[in-house]
Amino acid sequence: METVVSVPGPSNPNAHSQFWRQLWSLKVPNKIRHFLWRASNDSQPTKRNLQKRNILLESTCERCGDNTEDTIHALWGCPMVKGTWWELEQCRAFLWEKFKCFRDLLQGVFAQNNSRMAELFAYIGWSIWHNRNARKFGMELIYTDAVQRLPEFHSAQDPPLTQEVATYPTHWLPPPPGFYKINYDGATFQDVAAAGLGVVAGDSDSRVIAALSERISLPPTVEALEALACRKAVAFVTDLDIQDAVFEGDSETIYKHLSSDQPSMAAIGHLVDEARKLAATLRSYQFSHVKRNGNIVAADKLAKLAKTLYEPTIWVEDIHRDVATLVVSDRSFLSY
Ligand SMILES: [Zn+2]
Repeated sequence: METVVSVPGPSNPNAHSQFWRQLWSLKVPNKIRHFLWRASNDSQPTKRNLQKRNILLESTCERCGDNTEDTIHALWGCPMVKGTWWELEQCRAFLWEKFKCFRDLLQGVFAQNNSRMAELFAYIGWSIWHNRNARKFGMELIYTDAVQRLPEFHSAQDPPLTQEVATYPTHWLPPPPGFYKINYDGATFQDVAAAGLGVVAGDSDSRVIAALSERISLPPTVEALEALACRKAVAFVTDLDIQDAVFEGDSETIYKHLSSDQPSMAAIGHLVDEARKLAATLRSYQFSHVKRNGNIVAADKLAKLAKTLYEPTIWVEDIHRDVATLVVSDRSFLSY
């Protein structure tokens, strides 16, 4: 037997996306989630990987001097790291199991359905890797360090999350590192019985990475227009192959429909449900609401720009001049 629990096989096609969702929803610092992600993709610069790229001539583990150092050996298989894992009590039962890759190991950890254990596991794994690179502190301190840091991180994280639910921001704020924020809006052009959809994607450094403007025929209600803009935003993100996104609009009604657990019974229900279903195919996503002032690029520029467009227009690197300028002025709001 290679794993602790049954590894989801071809009979469980959802297991793949569920694994990544579990990974990205772990309540640990982003750098640790990124570490897990790289380790699960075997893209860490282990000696084995460097040897494969002809950077190193040999791939022997420097800790034990006895095995090839691939990801699973560096983080789990090496006898020199077993002492650290032993301290995480829930790991003891499968301490000497062999896993063919780090992802299988992590999948086994997720299958324990114990979020604290998974978070500690993530911390410890990251520290073992970090220690290998930096030799910053002794292996014997890794476990205590993880146990101490986890609650610190949780208490630092909790207040902003609750605040976000309670009050809506009035200005555009950058998304967390690693995420993209996608602002969307609609504009109506009653005189020509048309409407415009605007979508803009920004990164955590407030840089615009892509934008879209599209003219459509006039929908029956403003809410339908907002829902169409949201659905367009999600579709745009999947086209761009963005995996972690915060979708933000300025319609509180749409936001409430989007964040409800129930299927939407409103006239616009099918549009909202489609947006939610499509968003669920991403690695991680969140719906967010901002006052109109914070949505000015999507609203005042891109959606309105659509009036003059006869086909959907997308900017990926060469961002529209007006949009780029507005982002600069939006950024001046960030000094709150
Ligand atoms: Zn070793």
